Amino acid sequence: MNPTFTLLVVDDEKHNRALLTELLQGEYRIILAKDGKQALDRAREHHPDLILLDVLMPEVDGYEAIRALKNEDQTRDIPVIFVTSLDSAGDEERGLELGAVDYISKPFNPAIVRVRVRNHLQSVQQRRLLEQLAMLDSLTGIPNRRRFTEVFEQEWRRCMRDNVALSLVVVDVDNFKAFNDCYGHAAGDDVLRRIASTLQTSLRRPGDFVARYGGEEFVILLPGVDRTGGEALSEHTRADIEAERIPHSISQAAPWITISLGGATCIPQEGVTSMALFSLADTYLYEAKHAGRNRVCWAPQSTSECGNEVASSDNPKSA
Ligand code: GH3
Ligand code: MG
Ligand code: MG
Repeated sequence: MNPTFTLLVVDDEKHNRALLTELLQGEYRIILAKDGKQALDRAREHHPDLILLDVLMPEVDGYEAIRALKNEDQTRDIPVIFVTSLDSAGDEERGLELGAVDYISKPFNPAIVRVRVRNHLQSVQQRRLLEQLAMLDSLTGIPNRRRFTEVFEQEWRRCMRDNVALSLVVVDVDNFKAFNDCYGHAAGDDVLRRIASTLQTSLRRPGDFVARYGGEEFVILLPGVDRTGGEALSEHTRADIEAERIPHSISQAAPWITISLGGATCIPQEGVTSMALFSLADTYLYEAKHAGRNRVCWAPQSTSECGNEVASSDNPKSA
């Protein structure tokens, strides 16, 4: 059995449900539904990887069910195969036009059903792999800016709902252009990989998140972490990078590679965008650079007043 895949089998006839279950249960986890309405409930609850959907069913039929599935964000992407005794070309065309990935006529050939299911699940797996790759930075292997933007929005909303603090740290390598000029671009790439790896190991809690924002800039997101916690983690991270003693003979900050970090904390409020928190952290990164690099600078606003402060900080300097 391949427990990584869950199939939802929808058919109003018990006999058909039993046939398909028997055919597929050796390989996959099977969930059953006996009408269109139940299919929707089960799809929402279990988020199956593939749905085998009968067309002729009482009340909510297969056509209506697929329309409803395609209408909802959480079920839209689940591939649907119609398995039906309606076998005219028109029926098949209608099913495919409604968004089904395949159409199998009853009575079906068991071996063909098995192969088609396997093929579609292979596509599912490939698509997921591509989606994951699209969210990773190819140089360092950590999440990229696109993924960060998604996670930042999710965490912003979640912290607003839970009324808890969200801390954000923007990290920038010091005098990195000079490093590249002196040691070469390949050595620079190595440094970025090492920094990414150190940043990742510096995270403590499951919700903590690090990404490469672009170039030699990284971001750390700390949901539920207040200013004190955020500053402490940042200072540890700064010290960890410095402790690696990667030679950088022409840095203005130290004879080795160092990073500057700008942080900000707020309890997300209605009417304030996540971008405002980013701008504030970025402003304090600039402060850190200005104050001599290789240090942490944190926005002094307390979490309660931060919403307003953040909202008015609409013209940040960039580091
Ligand atoms: P500061 O301390 O003020 O941040 O100075 P800096 O030189 O680090 O900043 P600047 O923005 O002038 O230069 C950033 C450098 O980062 C320039 C660019 O060549 C380098 N860089 C950006 N992305 C990559 C990359 O993927 N690989 C390598 N090797 N270098 C990169
Ligand atoms: Mg930079
Ligand atoms: Mg830099």
